[in-house]
Amino acid sequence: MSSTETKVVFWGVRGSTPTPHPSSWRYGGNTPCVEVKTSPDTRFILDCGTGLRLLGNRWEEKSTEHGIDAHILVTHYHWDHIQGIPFFHPFYQSQNRFHFYSFQSKYLGPESLRKVLEAQVASPYFPVNLSMMTAAREFREISGGDQFEVNGTRVTARWLNHPQGCLGYRLDTPGGSIVYAPDNEPGVPEFDENLRQLAAGADVLICDAQFSPEQLATSRKGWGHSSWLECVKLARQAKAQNLFLFHHDPDSSDKMVDGYLLAAREEFKPSWAAMEGMTISLNEKGVDVALRDSRVGQRRRLRFSATISGIGEDGKSFEEKATVRDMSLHGAYLALTNRPALQSDVRVIIEASAADNHPSLLSLRGTVVYTEPATEKYKTGVGVLFVEDEDRTRD
Ligand SMILES: [Zn+2]
Ligand SMILES: [Zn+2]
Repeated sequence: MSSTETKVVFWGVRGSTPTPHPSSWRYGGNTPCVEVKTSPDTRFILDCGTGLRLLGNRWEEKSTEHGIDAHILVTHYHWDHIQGIPFFHPFYQSQNRFHFYSFQSKYLGPESLRKVLEAQVASPYFPVNLSMMTAAREFREISGGDQFEVNGTRVTARWLNHPQGCLGYRLDTPGGSIVYAPDNEPGVPEFDENLRQLAAGADVLICDAQFSPEQLATSRKGWGHSSWLECVKLARQAKAQNLFLFHHDPDSSDKMVDGYLLAAREEFKPSWAAMEGMTISLNEKGVDVALRDSRVGQRRRLRFSATISGIGEDGKSFEEKATVRDMSLHGAYLALTNRPALQSDVRVIIEASAADNHPSLLSLRGTVVYTEPATEKYKTGVGVLFVEDEDRTRD
């Protein structure tokens, strides 16, 4: 990380409620939490959804004696933006210090964020009480239009259009500018103008894209959210450099989010759909987006040839022969003469011809998720999910 590089990591990208479900695992089911690191010791956290727990675990792995000093910007008090707070381990370590920023809610009065935090760990909602949260905590009340400086980064807050209020943030960091507008419904001129000003020329625009344009015009009108199409319009008007669709609907499958991204890219090429584990690097050379940690699952080494076709960064389609070096595997359907028990272990050994004609063995441990009569007579159709394998010697 160079001295003027800023790193952004998405730890939670889902709106409204967590979605730990296979149909949304790829983009991820954790509610909003975005980490921004502007220098080795200057860190920001944007919102405290369930993604915050994962960030805490990562920080704990790398924790040092002199502790963490971080600035936490909360956009508003809806569950999906605060529910990770009790599960963030660094709050329970006395060497750490946190600076919280949010607005005074008319429902909660002065020190709204402190009250929210304390209520979350009050009995009977949580097993340990506030005295266990030993990290130093400072709370600062801010409002739309406020601007302040943190170690060379200028933070600007503006009101967005959302039930019970929401602040959007802009961070002008030494590496570039990041705008975070997770919950906002377009259509009210005053708030639309706020967001346009906040997003003006931003290198990274993280934008509420919860609904489809059709939903936003009909059944979800007035719910306080936006669509990929509105994000695209905003990105164009504000001359943003890169757009990140964010706050995916809990009912949006990965396939649906893929569709929104595809549609957005046709209108505004530098568009991305925020995904858990996605990282953005900003520096004087520009913006680089990576997803290196996302290819999880049952990865196995196995070399074989394949023909790969796709679309290059230049927009042109390509096809080439290449060597596959490993694969992530999720499951298989087998026709067996035996009938294994549900949720029992099976081992699947596959022999493949490698590119150089040497056989390559792939040994996988699976768990049986269903059995049914197979189309072949006297056979059982067995659905298997591949799971972690203790025996990694063949990897
Ligand atoms: Zn939300
Ligand atoms: Zn909200």
